[in-house]
Amino acid sequence: RKQVFRLSTGSCNLDRLLGGGIESMSITEAFGEFRTGKTQLSHTLCVTAQMPGANGYLGGKVMFIDTEHTFRPDRLRAIADRFNLDQTAVLENILYARAYNSEHQFELLESVAVKFHEEAGIFKLLIVDSIMALFRVDYCGRGELADRQQKLGQMMSKLQKISEEFNVAVFVTNQITSSFSGILSEDQLSKPVGGNVLAHASTTRLALRKAGVGNKRIAKIYDSPDLEESEATFVITTGGVDD
Ligand code: ADP
Ligand code: MG
Repeated sequence: RKQVFRLSTGSCNLDRLLGGGIESMSITEAFGEFRTGKTQLSHTLCVTAQMPGANGYLGGKVMFIDTEHTFRPDRLRAIADRFNLDQTAVLENILYARAYNSEHQFELLESVAVKFHEEAGIFKLLIVDSIMALFRVDYCGRGELADRQQKLGQMMSKLQKISEEFNVAVFVTNQITSSFSGILSEDQLSKPVGGNVLAHASTTRLALRKAGVGNKRIAKIYDSPDLEESEATFVITTGGVDD
């Protein structure tokens, strides 16, 4: 029997907002503008997923799909230090893949499914940072929006299937940009890029924004069927996401 588990974000506030952390057998999407902490949250989860947690969770390996070339082993070393974990062991438990275009990103998910099948029960977290970046490049014209949404929908279905079949938490990031005017309607501009396709596939959507100048950030649950639309503050430190 598959036992659902939750992974800590590194921030108690944020974990509380999420009902205990990001959940397995579902997709959590963090969206926000540049520098709101999406990649730092991804890195922190890479480490916390390896640590024992609530309800008998023992920790496991992580698959990281990087589309923007922002994966930083040095950041992981610093986060490992914060939790008194061996840096090398932490890095060895993270399988890294760089996606070069949207088609490649999809193919990588096929390989991930094979890998998760071969090493059954070993992987606990799949990260895609960021989910939309390559789609924006590959489908940039107005006439291609429908195609892009269809491909994106297929990818989200694949991610959902992987999360359920292998009982892993899927964490995806999505950058909001204002450079999209002309492609999306004004109404859509205020919402995360990806529109309804992402909204339906993601179980939990987390809107991130900066709070003032420093390292403080605010997270808000967005449009969740079963969580309150409340907010939590967290900070980004050398040791990753924290309170
Ligand atoms: P996003 O992926 O949403 O564009 P990031 O996750 O890359 O944003 O967050 C970038 C922010 O993280 C920086 O503005 C900085 O405040 C913080 N940050 C990055 N590295 C460190 C570090 N080593 N120590 C403290 N804060 C850091
Ligand atoms: Mg980023």
